[in-house]
Amino acid sequence: MLDFTFKNTTDVRFGNDHIDAELHDVLSHYGQNVLLVYGGHSIKKSGLYERVLNLISDLNVTELAGIEPNPKIDSIRQGQKLAKDSQVDVILAVGGGSVIDAAKVIGSAAFYDGDPWELVVDSAKRYEIDQLPVVDILTLSATGSEMNFGAVISNPDIPLKKGTGGPNSPAVSFLDPTLTYTVPARQTAAGASDIFSHLCEQYFDNNASNDISRNMIEGLMRTVIYWAPIAVKEPENYDARANLMWVATMALNGIVGLGTINSWTVHPLEHELSAHYDITHGIGLAILTPRWMEFALNTNTKPLFARFARAVWDQYGYDDMELAENSIRRTHDWLKSLNHEMTLPDVGITDDSKFEEMAKAAVVDGKLSTDAYVPVTEKDAIRIYKDSMEEFNK
Ligand code: NAP
Ligand code: FE
Repeated sequence: MLDFTFKNTTDVRFGNDHIDAELHDVLSHYGQNVLLVYGGHSIKKSGLYERVLNLISDLNVTELAGIEPNPKIDSIRQGQKLAKDSQVDVILAVGGGSVIDAAKVIGSAAFYDGDPWELVVDSAKRYEIDQLPVVDILTLSATGSEMNFGAVISNPDIPLKKGTGGPNSPAVSFLDPTLTYTVPARQTAAGASDIFSHLCEQYFDNNASNDISRNMIEGLMRTVIYWAPIAVKEPENYDARANLMWVATMALNGIVGLGTINSWTVHPLEHELSAHYDITHGIGLAILTPRWMEFALNTNTKPLFARFARAVWDQYGYDDMELAENSIRRTHDWLKSLNHEMTLPDVGITDDSKFEEMAKAAVVDGKLSTDAYVPVTEKDAIRIYKDSMEEFNK
């Protein structure tokens, strides 16, 4: 196991009783001036917007609406200006990962005089400046942003979608599973695929001695595999929504990746798809994951794929290669059963004209040819994108 230090300061309030009782006190602890950050219409349609405003009607609330899925740098620029102009004390992010990610970077940009894209490109700068506290009310189970230090911001001018680490995991996260009852089936499925991918990225790791991570991840994988299809079919099933919400947080709050090399492959490949085609993150991952697994299976990786088959997919037998191949098929079939798109043409990517450029960026930016579980060259990345054009038929 590799050495590590770990500190995660997010105060988690899980369940459906906390918001009404605690939101006001949590926010006013930081001050009177609140920047309320949210996305499109979902929180207005569900009534959450009005409920939140009623709870904090005596505080000074400035609003930043319209944070897009795959949040864009222009929204961060707007947030930076509002935070400075209104002398904001605390940010309240109400939404999914896109809204929370945007809030984190706005929290840094409030103390920065330059263009916030510089903070995204060079995360080190964020550690040199102060941060506004971010309080969030999560409405979608997927990213783990509610309890981690990451944020992913897109700059359509380049185009580039870039992950940035920062010093500010949310100060307080309200995780109320009932708020996810309104998440549509396709978005629920995309969230589940994102959760599963976060687990795969940390499981398929070259540090073979970390048995704790692998055992925890196998349990979390089994949880998402079991509950996600139920949440898709029964949107108001509390246990399904609750298990999905907590497994999303546990998958990416840092704990299961401790003591591993933690070098990711499928996310860098997907970020190129989102940057160029603005597709839904989780669906891009679901399309790429089985094709990446096929690419990654070889005689060296066979034992771990066979373990994955036994521990996660309940496959039995003596032939490790057969088990490993079975696990890839099972992974694909489970992702497909969630009923979202499973090829690139399904999401509107009908030609391969950008694959070379995307492969190059993913391999260089994601350090895929040097650090990945199985090194990926530009040629390999193009092959994975090309395989994703066709139905998976192994
Ligand atoms: P999202 O982009 O935050 O939201 C997707 C859609 O779901 C939006 O249209 C949103 O509508 C809708 N929605 C959210 N909550 C809803 C609800 N309760 N009812 C109905 N609709 C609802 O989705 P996400 O998957 O959570 O976040 C994806 C982003 O996070 C990507 O940019 C991805 O790269 C990034 N990411 C971050 C991390 C991290 O560690 N920080 C990890 C993985 C991925 P509204 O806009 O109307 O609210
Ligand atoms: Fe993700």
